[in-house]
Amino acid sequence: MQDMSKAGLAGKITIVAGPCALESYGQAMEMAYKVSLVRDAMEPFGIVVGYRGGAWKPRTKPDDENGNGVFEGVREEGLRWLGKIGDTYGLPIFTECMSEDDVRHFGRYLDAERDFIQIGARNSQNFALLYNVGGMPFNVLLKSPQHGVDVEEAVGSIMRLKRNGTIVYCVRGQKPFIPPDGVDDKRLQEYMEKLLSSDGQCRGSRNLNNISAIKKLRKDLYLSDRGVLFAYDPSHTFGGADDSLRRMIGEQAVKAFTDYDYDMVEVEVNDRSSHAKCDANQALLSTTTNVVWSETNVGQGSKIVPGGGKEPAVMPLTLVDMARELARYRKSEVGLSNNDMENAMRKLDAISWDMRP
Ligand code: PEP
Ligand code: MN
Repeated sequence: MQDMSKAGLAGKITIVAGPCALESYGQAMEMAYKVSLVRDAMEPFGIVVGYRGGAWKPRTKPDDENGNGVFEGVREEGLRWLGKIGDTYGLPIFTECMSEDDVRHFGRYLDAERDFIQIGARNSQNFALLYNVGGMPFNVLLKSPQHGVDVEEAVGSIMRLKRNGTIVYCVRGQKPFIPPDGVDDKRLQEYMEKLLSSDGQCRGSRNLNNISAIKKLRKDLYLSDRGVLFAYDPSHTFGGADDSLRRMIGEQAVKAFTDYDYDMVEVEVNDRSSHAKCDANQALLSTTTNVVWSETNVGQGSKIVPGGGKEPAVMPLTLVDMARELARYRKSEVGLSNNDMENAMRKLDAISWDMRP
């Protein structure tokens, strides 16, 4: 059995937060600073906080409707920024590797003991990539495939991660079912209707919420023997222009710990989402204290206009909101006093939207 304690996450819960994609040095550092402030407040609660951000960014379509190529990441340069963020703030870094060719860059900038190579939903059964990443001493966060969680497939992918330290398997929502014959069939519709009435499912969400897949994953002996940790990523399920749906991102992230016993959640946080080049409408704010709404894409409805954000009727939870709830949840478990709690809340209250490093 390998040593799964390397990343120091056992017995703790972990929030991984940061922008979907790294877009500029300033954006990457600004968000890292905010995330580090939340980390400072959460430390006494046994809550680890990490930083996410894609240097390579898989997009569903490579071109927009006018045939122009879309943003697919700043690539190797982003790893350099992440290395700087890891060194400056000591935050564990989570960032995606998309191809065998790029694996070699990770060791140059990141810290194998502290940081995680993310393998995305689209690559979760790319065996060549898994063997390559599996030959490096890094920790790994492996996403479940877009078609959903299949325990045997998860085991098969993880068996290829031979040399890695801590391995985290991340449940990230699944595509709605498509009938094999391609036509909408009545029984399938009835099933979908029934599903929609169950906890955590929502009409209009982009993916089905498979948060409860952890129940099966936890029963697998190979995964438990190997000390695999489990993460939940609600962004791709509830992200969208609808703020009440987007509120589910934070609500389900909190539930992942309080009701489902996940070890980790990953969320996308970007304070200037009105200008984001990708996944703008699944981004959460770090906080709403002193927020300049026009810089966000919150409250914009289906049409996102740069500079058009406004205070929404339904407020999506922020990273600070989630931290407040999780601190309350952990307080008794870690035996903290009311004084410690007030201290942490003061630190969270002091985080301001426009604070610069
Ligand atoms: C991401 O986390 O940025 C991402 C692309 O996720 P997924 O691979 O789950 O789509
Ligand atoms: Mn994203």
